[in-house]
Amino acid sequence: MDTEWSNKNKKMQTLISKEMTFAEGIKLLFELRAQLFEQITSIVKTFPAVAFYQMPFGMGEGNQHTTLAWSLWHLFRIEDIVLHTLILKDEQVLFKDGWLDKTNSPIITTANELDGDAMIDFSEVLNIQVTYEYCKAVMESTNQMLERLQFADLKRTFTTADRERLVASKCVSPEESSVWLIDYWCGKNIAGLIKMPFSRHWIMHVEAMQRIKNKLCQQAKKGVDQIAYCGLSCAHCFLTAWCGSCRTIYNTCSFATCSPDGVCPNTACCKEKGLDGCYECSELYDCKKGFYSLGKDTNAIRAMALFIQKHGKTELLRVLDKLHSKKKFEKIQEILGEEIDQGLKILEEWRK
Ligand code: SF4
Ligand code: SF4
Repeated sequence: MDTEWSNKNKKMQTLISKEMTFAEGIKLLFELRAQLFEQITSIVKTFPAVAFYQMPFGMGEGNQHTTLAWSLWHLFRIEDIVLHTLILKDEQVLFKDGWLDKTNSPIITTANELDGDAMIDFSEVLNIQVTYEYCKAVMESTNQMLERLQFADLKRTFTTADRERLVASKCVSPEESSVWLIDYWCGKNIAGLIKMPFSRHWIMHVEAMQRIKNKLCQQAKKGVDQIAYCGLSCAHCFLTAWCGSCRTIYNTCSFATCSPDGVCPNTACCKEKGLDGCYECSELYDCKKGFYSLGKDTNAIRAMALFIQKHGKTELLRVLDKLHSKKKFEKIQEILGEEIDQGLKILEEWRK
């Protein structure tokens, strides 16, 4: 489990368990949830639609043996059901404002009962952008409840009537894979529900989503040219574990994710000019587009592209292998980035 999130979660649990520090604990819970939701936003905003119905780890035990779409749905359906049907005894977000129709979901359950092909089929029909907005609406309604929550509320437990209400909602499948959830939730008090599903459950599934999207990136990169359009080597890039390369639809390169249309300006320009990369361009040395607009911070990339222009991609990869066996990515960027010609000269010296 991510150490920062896990520590924050533990600290939050300790703080809310004492009246004096309860408010501080709730504040930390908001902070943790916001941080985790940021990860969800980044995945939804940067990954292509097809990514959401892939199951790159295949069938098996563990939260990563799912799809991104399923993870989103499952996480927030559970929160919606627990918050509204169990705790607040009012209407779930899903049944208000046409969310169910808009998400295009064929089910109203937590989706625990889905597996394999059924999970993929469900994920494919789900409207991801709308589902993301639904998740946001659920998160906000939970946050409103948490804002009103008093220390004394933490001890509140649940009755047979609460349990029956959950069953009657038909939001938990009667199948063995799902039905246990009802007893699990009803066996907790509010303090227990803050842990599962309102905090730890988020960490578990956001981490699984990260593993899924990283695996998709690695799969996408297999057999693809390792040199990015700008001249960087994906094989040596510090983002390589999280980025699927600008030569695939899984491009989460830093510049692409910051660009309004999600495409790196260097990639777009090369494609427009019909070039394999900026290293084939006559304007390379003075270009101010995309990565090359950042001056000293990205001089190293220009030096690499200039090196490719003179010696080819294979030679750059060979030199970078040597350099990376001695120094870390950041240090190499720093040394090569001091000055463009100097950076190119250093790369050439490493050819020997
Ligand atoms: S950020 Fe650029 S160089 Fe790094 S892995 Fe992504 S596309 Fe490749
Ligand atoms: S103009 Fe700049 S961004 Fe476009 S291909 Fe040439 S070097 Fe690359």
